[in-house]
Parts: sequence; structure tokens; C-alpha cells
Amino acid sequence: MQEDSPVQNENTRDAAQTVQPQRAGRRNRLIVLGAAALVALGLGGVAVATTGPDHPAPAAVSLDAQNRAEAASRADRSARESSTPVAPSASPTASPSVASASPTPAKTATAKAKPKPKKTTKPTPAWVDPMPGAAVTSCYGQRWGTLHAGIDLALPSGTPIRAAAAGTVTQAGDASDGYGNSVFVDHGNGYLTHYAHQSRIAVTVGQKVKAGQVIGYEGATGDATGPHLHFEVHQGMWNQIDPAPFMRTRGVDLGC
Ligand SMILES: [Zn+2]
Repeated sequence: MQEDSPVQNENTRDAAQTVQPQRAGRRNRLIVLGAAALVALGLGGVAVATTGPDHPAPAAVSLDAQNRAEAASRADRSARESSTPVAPSASPTASPSVASASPTPAKTATAKAKPKPKKTTKPTPAWVDPMPGAAVTSCYGQRWGTLHAGIDLALPSGTPIRAAAAGTVTQAGDASDGYGNSVFVDHGNGYLTHYAHQSRIAVTVGQKVKAGQVIGYEGATGDATGPHLHFEVHQGMWNQIDPAPFMRTRGVDLGC
């Protein structure tokens, strides 16, 4: 027991002696790190000085801040490096395009000039036949003592009816006035077109339609003896004019 105690004391002393230098070494290292951080970051030094060297947290924070600052500077550098190669590459490409710009406009102008007429004539002329291929069963004019204010076009029931020109649907439905299911399209130039006796309407009021767009399907609703499209042109609402000459001057022959 007596012999053991000095050994133990020695051991503990040794342990204490060995521990103490380690602690001192850590503390010194922390101070060095704190000082290094202080030197590296002027702002970090303030935090280290106020909290003291015993606390490792400020040193770690300042090191983190340093790492972050370094990462940020690296990111800035990479951003600068990535942005700088783009700038020189942009100027060489810009100069050839400028150089080639002078011959290309002449080429594109001539190239565009050719397809342009095709585009205007082919897909959508301003005015189209509302029901192409239909047989005319009645033209505009006096009939049985009253004015027949439109053109009757006949094809089997359910044939699509197309907007004669672009415009906005102002009426769509059956107003119980003899027209059955009918649609008005306002073309915004003082003229409206009216499509009557439809079996089914495919548009709603306020809808914008293009020339040739299907607005409904032929039928025999309202005062109709058989399926046909009663097509009217209004120069101002309810001022029906003869659709035949009106449409003919717009490139559509309805056959009257
Ligand atoms: Zn009619």
C-alpha cells in the first residue's frame, strides 16, 4: 500500500505532468490559430480578443469565416474566370456575324419575299367560304314576297360551318326568332356575318375566331325546311346586304 502510493502518485503526477503540457500545447495552438485568424481577418481578431484565447469557439468561427472568405474569393475568381473567356469568344463571333450581316440581308430579303405570298394565300386568306363545296339553294333577294336576307348553302347535316373571316363571336344560341341556333361574328370593320339553322354551335360569345375556324355544324333548327346554312352579311347589325358581291370582292364566290 505504502509502496504503491508513491507509484500511484508518480503515475498521477506523470499523468498530470503529461496532461498539463498537452493542455498548454493546445492552448498555445489555439492562441496561434487565433492569432493567425486575427492576422488573416482583421475583423475576426475583435471576436478573439473579447472572448479570450481559452475558448476555442471564436477561433473555429474565425477559421470558418476565413474558409468561407477563401471559398467566396475562389467563387469570385471562378466567376471572373468563366466570365472572362466568354467575353473574348463573344467578340470574335460578333465580328463574323457583323461581317456576314451585309451579304445575308440581301439573301434573306429575297428568300423571304418568295414564301411570303404563299403564306398569305395558302393558310388563311382574310375571307373564306363558310361552307366550301355547298350547293346554293337560295340567293339573296325577294322570295315569296319577302326579302330573303342571306344565301342558303346546302350540304348534309353536320357539315362544319366556318367563320368567313376573323372576328369576335357576339351572339351564339337560339333566340327563337326563326334562325334556330345561330352565330354572329363581328369582324371589327363595320361588318358582321351571321350563320343560322345550325345543328350544334361550337363557339361561345366573346370568343375570338380565325378565318376558316369551325364555329358550328349545319342543321335545320329554326324555320328551315331542310338542313342548310343560312349565311348573312350585316353592314351594321341587322342591316343585311347581299353576301354574293360582298364576298366576291373579297375573293370568295358563293355562286349567286
Ligand atoms: Zn336562308
